[in-house]
Amino acid sequence: MKIGIPRGLLFYRFYYLWKTFLEELGQEVVISPPTNKPIIQRGLTYAVEEICFPAKVFLGHTHYLKDKVDLLFIPRVVSFHKGEYTCPKILGLPDMVRNLFHVPAERVIDDEINMRERDQVGWRQGFLSIGKRFVANERRIARALREAEEAHRRYRQQVRKGVLPEVMIDGVHPLPPRPEKVLLLGHTYLINESFINMNIISKVHDMGFSVITPDMVDPRKARHALREIPKASFWTFSNEIMGSTLAILRDRPPEVKGLIHLVSFECGPDSLVGEVLGRLLKREKDLFPYLRLEIDEHTGEAGLVTRLEAFVDMMQWRYANRESNVSPSCSS
Ligand code: SF4
Repeated sequence: MKIGIPRGLLFYRFYYLWKTFLEELGQEVVISPPTNKPIIQRGLTYAVEEICFPAKVFLGHTHYLKDKVDLLFIPRVVSFHKGEYTCPKILGLPDMVRNLFHVPAERVIDDEINMRERDQVGWRQGFLSIGKRFVANERRIARALREAEEAHRRYRQQVRKGVLPEVMIDGVHPLPPRPEKVLLLGHTYLINESFINMNIISKVHDMGFSVITPDMVDPRKARHALREIPKASFWTFSNEIMGSTLAILRDRPPEVKGLIHLVSFECGPDSLVGEVLGRLLKREKDLFPYLRLEIDEHTGEAGLVTRLEAFVDMMQWRYANRESNVSPSCSS
């Protein structure tokens, strides 16, 4: 059977895991192409106005795939970290797709993956439930999951070393490393999808900096550093963003010159994280410039470039003059 995986939201996190698992069970995987204007337009046409831009883009990809495949792969990923959640928008995706596009329930693979309370047991149960749609033999499903986890581990290892997901998945030409870097924070579906973020990584590179993303920070260090915050968030991506920031602030690698936080305009978790980051940076003694960039379907490329250029100029000037840290009111 042809299984369609929409290229959005958790795609850049779990693509190799999902692909390997389904292929090991004998299925053919079809993915939607990299995001483009017509796909965004499809999402904007069908989505309700209130949902965030990344969810609208996801719906555009799903609409692109829905008549080209037998089944749509939209598992209900409640949690992929013990004690935490993904986000209500992600949980609601299978229902949104069924209702907006009138896709029959049996054409959506919507099994729940939930590690919040049962950790690895919840993870394995989710994949067992998906696997049983294709084969009855539980051992074969368990073997497929092991292969998939190994593929996922190799992928995440490469990303940690600085290889961007688009380089691995789409064969995009890698950018040569720059000696100076900025920490580019944001959810995987904002920072790893160059059409949505208007090629921010290349733009920053042209201005003289490579980027470090939260996926490139040692997760153990990030989780440990997160303990500085009295109460961590319910949301895994928020915790990864705050934890990686704190890990970098504590290590202070000299090549990391500042921080850009890319947020989705309509995202509730992002607004909270932005507030916490502002406070964390304010209390730092040493200079660490900070720029917050909001992205939605109305964001213009010229405006983004102007703000990046202004940030880089300001960052270089402040380092040259050893001025105090950027206050949240100066960041934008
Ligand atoms: S975390 Fe924010 S950006 Fe991500 S799906 Fe939820 S609301 Fe949208």
